[in-house]
Amino acid sequence: MSGNRPDVVVVGSVNADLRIEVDMLPRPGETIHGGSPLWLGGGKGANQAVALARLGRSVALVGAVGSDQVSAGLARQLAAEGVNIDRLATVEGPAGQAVVFVDPSGENSIVVSPGANGAVHPDLVRRAHDELAGAKVVLAQLEIPVDAVLAAASATRGTFVLNPAPAVPLPPELLRRVDVLVPNRGELAQLCAAQPPATVDEVAALARRLPCAAVVVTLGGDGALVVAGDTVRHLEPPAVTAVDTTGAGDCFCGALADALADGHPLVDAAAFAVRAAALSVTVPGAQASMPTREQVLVLPA
Ligand code: ADP
Repeated sequence: MSGNRPDVVVVGSVNADLRIEVDMLPRPGETIHGGSPLWLGGGKGANQAVALARLGRSVALVGAVGSDQVSAGLARQLAAEGVNIDRLATVEGPAGQAVVFVDPSGENSIVVSPGANGAVHPDLVRRAHDELAGAKVVLAQLEIPVDAVLAAASATRGTFVLNPAPAVPLPPELLRRVDVLVPNRGELAQLCAAQPPATVDEVAALARRLPCAAVVVTLGGDGALVVAGDTVRHLEPPAVTAVDTTGAGDCFCGALADALADGHPLVDAAAFAVRAAALSVTVPGAQASMPTREQVLVLPA
């Protein structure tokens, strides 16, 4: 961190996730028994900020929590992870919350109540103008209003990275401001109003349709594809035993932003992110599964 300016600013959501394991996901009208409820810190913004902090990166989170007890706990947890929360606003009402049902195969059903995340307006983002303008990398997702993401992009002087999750229609002026877009296969298809691409060539062809300078598509167990100008590079993950892929995309985005903040070229940064995300799927949970820099560096290829 230079002075108290963070290298990376994450602009995004903070949620409390209530996770309940079930034998089968409930059908409409059905009431079922589940396992013990587990409250976990979540939200793509918070997850990506924690990924960066675990890697030892100076990171601030711009967003909002509510005025309830749950919110106070979420903010404390982020600070304990080393995330700078000076620009995390407190707004009247509840925190963002998600109820997550997970079946034994790992399939899930999720209901998200945006709560305070819905109150992240452009003016709230602009209050962090100095941090945004001074950051090497600004990283955003779409669990906050799109006009707030556009305000973040406008204030960015470094590299603007957008993880377009969940997929929502985006104004072309936002896409044109994106230096690196990081969709998964489904989000890429939705942004291009196309069927999900089956092959790497189809992924590259869709990515080329977008007006962003570079696109890094995450491909689950197949790693990631970098598409930037004439460069197309498929990066395969190291062999790992996946136990829980929750938060893998968030780990990938955080690690990518971390390496870009060090000035690494995009393909090298994506290779680092593939290794970090591979480690994250070997540990249950989202924030709990984010690896440290040392763990990524010692992972065999
Ligand atoms: P999301 O979770 O956003 O849908 P992906 O499923 O594409 O995103 O996963 C994000 C990244 O996590 C992938 O690009 C890959 O690097 C890593 N990853 C996901 N699943 C696995 C796996 N089974 N083995 C190794 N790496 C994985």
